[in-house]
Amino acid sequence: MDILAYMGKYGFEQLIFCHDRVSGLRALIALHNTTLGPALGGCRMYPYEKEDDAILDVLRLARGMTYKNAAAGLSLGGGKSVIIGDPRRDKSEEMLRAFGRFVQTLGGRYYTAEDSGTSVEDMDVIRTETEYVLGLSTADSSGDPSPVTAFGVWRGMKAAAGQAFGEESLKGRTVAVQGVGNVGYALARHLAEEGARLLVADVDAGRAERAAREFGAEVVDPQHIHAAPCDIFSPNALGAVLNARSIPELKCRVVAGGANNQLATEADGDELERRGILYVPDYIINAGGVINVADEMLGKYNRDRAMRKAATIYDNVRRVLAIARRDGIPTYRAADRLAEERIARIAQLHQMYLPG
Ligand code: NAD
Repeated sequence: MDILAYMGKYGFEQLIFCHDRVSGLRALIALHNTTLGPALGGCRMYPYEKEDDAILDVLRLARGMTYKNAAAGLSLGGGKSVIIGDPRRDKSEEMLRAFGRFVQTLGGRYYTAEDSGTSVEDMDVIRTETEYVLGLSTADSSGDPSPVTAFGVWRGMKAAAGQAFGEESLKGRTVAVQGVGNVGYALARHLAEEGARLLVADVDAGRAERAAREFGAEVVDPQHIHAAPCDIFSPNALGAVLNARSIPELKCRVVAGGANNQLATEADGDELERRGILYVPDYIINAGGVINVADEMLGKYNRDRAMRKAATIYDNVRRVLAIARRDGIPTYRAADRLAEERIARIAQLHQMYLPG
């Protein structure tokens, strides 16, 4: 792969190859865009088969973080890191500390955090070598992000309901929740409290039954939850659930959920638009998690402040929908435009102070 050409095409700033002979660390850190502030994005550990797969993944994920952080109104740029290896077999204290030393060399241009294959405990180890790590196990750290994520999803869903149904209240609306894990369960609680009618599905039957018991939800077969007649379909489990096979089966007016990377391809975003289904872009509505961890950078972590910031996801969803209407584009494109417009405005501001 022609890495520099790819970086040029998408405006990347830096890609760092990290190697430590003693611990066997092989890692990559990608900084996509730091116009708004230092890059923040988690550290993923995964046994990539080919080095190119790791490179492409870290670049794509870093770019995604630029958009997510910018659209969320955070003063943070986009970055990400990957450690190449099997987290169950290859991870060691030496490796994590070696990774922390590389993060430290960037002097605060990049902040890391947990991601798939890494844990809060791993962040504690990385902290021994660098101050630029968030989401530790300490009492003053941000802790489990899922309640904040779920709160943001609920707020964003109300904003979408306002546009789709002419009223924001979800009382009496039928919401089909796919996945009642950390985010889906907390979301279902908000919805139940508001008086929504809930359909829930989870491959873990115990979790679906818990939601049924506690929130009076109706349990649906996980194979068919996306096709259940409802007002709002809410994906909170896997990525790529909106695809060429599932979209023709949808019987909802709105898709709004916490899962990452819900669209299998961009064409699926176009298809939802064509069918008149209002898709709330995933990275706009599920930004509560990053908002939560980023709060640590403002000093002592404050959950109330993080929740207040997450509440602004409501305004962000409205902004995205307004841009989609203004420019006549699908919502997933409008989300990117929201982020790009903010970065361009701040970049212009910086240029005002350049000499000459
Ligand atoms: P989780 O593992 O706690 O919950 C996921 C749930 O989905 C589990 O209960 C699992 O059994 C279920 N599931 C898996 N496959 C399913 C299927 N095919 N059908 C129905 N249910 C299925 O994870 P989570 O932390 O709740 O995260 C859920 C999604 O939200 C993920 O895509 C995650 O990347 C995204 N997300 C989470 C956060 C956060 O704060 N946790 C923040 C942003 C985005």
